[in-house]
Amino acid sequence: MKKISRRHFLYCSAGLFCSVLHADAFWPFSVKTGVAAGPADIRGHVFKGDAPQKLWKWSHEGFLYTKLDNKLVMCGICPNRCLLSPGDRSVCRSKVNMDGVLYSLTYGNPCSVNVDPIEKKPLFHFKPRSKAFSIATTGCNFRCLNCQNWEISQAKPHEVRHHELFPADVIQGAQRTGCASIAYTYSEAVTFFEYMIDTEDR
Ligand code: SF4
Repeated sequence: MKKISRRHFLYCSAGLFCSVLHADAFWPFSVKTGVAAGPADIRGHVFKGDAPQKLWKWSHEGFLYTKLDNKLVMCGICPNRCLLSPGDRSVCRSKVNMDGVLYSLTYGNPCSVNVDPIEKKPLFHFKPRSKAFSIATTGCNFRCLNCQNWEISQAKPHEVRHHELFPADVIQGAQRTGCASIAYTYSEAVTFFEYMIDTEDR
């Protein structure tokens, strides 16, 4: 049998001990106790009964959703796949079920409108030194704990000051301010998909 030195034995023992300790991290069936569970899954956490009494000027029927039995609707825009009963508000706070129809409440009412350098987006070597007409609405389909724009991303459309800027106005604003591009930014743009697509079509 090969003899090993005391130093080598201690070195190997320490390595084995550490690998046993951390095996738990890779073992799919282990039950972890006392370990932070990480971010909660927000899918399905819709705002029950939180839709407004009636639609407002900046409401627009959703583009990508499914009508189900009993006036349920399911949004198909993002993986949250919000399933809304009449009167419910979506996870992203931007969409509601009004009597079996899915509506976006952020069509043409961005809460942030700025002219930014394109490098702030950040885009590398895309029209360098040009300006981007940057817009965002309230609402987001994420709950990032370190969000720097939480005041708008975690707000409902009626909770913040907004600008009236329908798709044609966005184009005019970009041209008037000498912007070479339009950026959908600050919050998650998929939550105002209808507004974004109609602006793109112009
Ligand atoms: S975009 Fe909004 S309403 Fe649609 S599935 Fe995602 S979180 Fe739900």
